Amino acid sequence: MADFDLAVIGGGINGAGIARDAAGRGLRVLLVEQNDLASGTSSASSKLIHGGLRYLEHYEFRLVRTALAEREVLLRAAPHLIQPLRFVLPINPAGRSALLLRLGLLLYDWLGRRRILPGTRELDLSTDPAGHPLRDIFHQAYEYSDCFADDARLVVVNAMDAAEHGASIRTRTRCARAERSDVWRLILNARGHRDAVTARVLINAAGAWVESVAETVLRQPPARPHLRLDKGSHIVVRRLYEHDRAYILQAADRRVVFAIPFQRDFTLIGTTDAGFTGDPGAVAPTGDEIVYLCGVMNEYFRFAVSPADVVWAFAGVRSLYDDGAGKPQDIGREYTLALDERFGEAPLLTVYGGKITTYRRLAEDALDRLAHFFPRSERWTAQHPLPGGDFAYDGLDALVEQTLRRWPFLGDGHALRLTRAYGTRVEAVLKDASGIDDLGQRFGADLTAAEVRYLMEREWARTAEDVLWRRSKLGLRFSAAQRDQLEDFMSAANR
Ligand SMILES: Cc1cc2nc3c(=O)[nH]c(=O)nc-3n(C[C@H](O)[C@H](O)[C@H](O)COP(=O)(O)OP(=O)(O)OC[C@H]3O[C@@H](n4cnc5c(N)ncnc54)[C@H](O)[C@@H]3O)c2cc1C
Repeated sequence: MADFDLAVIGGGINGAGIARDAAGRGLRVLLVEQNDLASGTSSASSKLIHGGLRYLEHYEFRLVRTALAEREVLLRAAPHLIQPLRFVLPINPAGRSALLLRLGLLLYDWLGRRRILPGTRELDLSTDPAGHPLRDIFHQAYEYSDCFADDARLVVVNAMDAAEHGASIRTRTRCARAERSDVWRLILNARGHRDAVTARVLINAAGAWVESVAETVLRQPPARPHLRLDKGSHIVVRRLYEHDRAYILQAADRRVVFAIPFQRDFTLIGTTDAGFTGDPGAVAPTGDEIVYLCGVMNEYFRFAVSPADVVWAFAGVRSLYDDGAGKPQDIGREYTLALDERFGEAPLLTVYGGKITTYRRLAEDALDRLAHFFPRSERWTAQHPLPGGDFAYDGLDALVEQTLRRWPFLGDGHALRLTRAYGTRVEAVLKDASGIDDLGQRFGADLTAAEVRYLMEREWARTAEDVLWRRSKLGLRFSAAQRDQLEDFMSAANR
């Protein structure tokens, strides 16, 4: 008998989502991730759980409808990590007409099957606070709903739920080779330590690496390459305006750029969109991209944003299933699942494309495609909260208050950050601490040893970078010396 029913290569949102769904159906699941969970594209997105207003221009109605419906499903499953967000879309006389935008938003609202999120309204920018930071050539805007998520933590809670349903999650473990017979035999390399396991079915969910894994690990390259890689960069600057809404800005090249309130004191701005070749692991924002994003902001805002204001920048690589279209922004954002079944040989399912927003549906579809290999099982993830998310979708404020009542020594900001990150699992981080000193060493900002230990024991964190940039965004508030101190603490604990 094989060691596992299902092995998944790739610990991004798609691999973690599939592992969770499969483990919850009683399958014996292995997930391998060569670095940290969400170390690929899944921590470098715009972090929107959205239908994608601009995909309507490309007639991707099915994708938009599926994605819009997922907003409220995911909001209910992870109300700590996902919050509704209103987007202000200023009418720009040099951009799309007000009528076209109004029609697009009517369609967006109509396709969205909303129960929780409010619909579109019109804003008079001369009176609404959303107009204050904008140049006075903008008089009118529309405001509509989508959601904002902590993308990297969403991956982690999916992996946690998979593990709590019995899955084996191995991070810093590369699938170096996969040999196919009636079962898959995987050679795993965990930082020099080699191991072999067998699985009945293999899923290649390696995102931007999917074709290089097919070629070099599975040695089964597709007949023709399907993948188009497309790079997108973001910048983070100090908070630019007071209110809590985001902007969606039409750039002169007809792309859209978002400006989103981020981590209380910052604004996240992105993204760019350009074809990419090379190693997805080495992708980084260029000076030109940073100048471009600042330029779009300066077309709209009264104050100037310059590259000198950038406190953090990151880039990621979208993997898009190439349907032969020309420009990157014209390639479909829908995912494609390719099942390779051969008589007498174990099956292989390859995942192309996909969005954070649609990962749960992708996982359901993946398991449907494999249904004939496993005992009958039902779809289940739409009704079940993710770890820490077992409270009402609008109950975050109440949960923060509960956190403050139980651990009154926490400041408001600390309680809010911990509750947003861990939801009802905040209990497992703070345990029975009765004063801040019970949480141990303080490394910088409000990060304590108790939280770091929790992240190492329960969330597979191994390095300071895992903690500061993926389990949290405290990297924005840490000095190099504080980071080194955290690294030393974690290295000692890893030994
Ligand atoms: C700039 C940008 C903005 C975006 N914005 C949004 C947005 O706002 N909303 C939205 O819904 N989507 C957005 N997306 C899309 C979304 O981020 C991606 O579709 C999604 O993160 C892809 O997840 P994945 O699991 O397929 O890939 P990844 O997250 O890249 O995961 C693949 C993993 O496989 C691992 N791996 C590779 N080879 C091996 C091996 N041999 N062994 C073990 N592990 C291996 C890698 O290390 C990697 O972690 C955006 C994407 C980009 C680039």
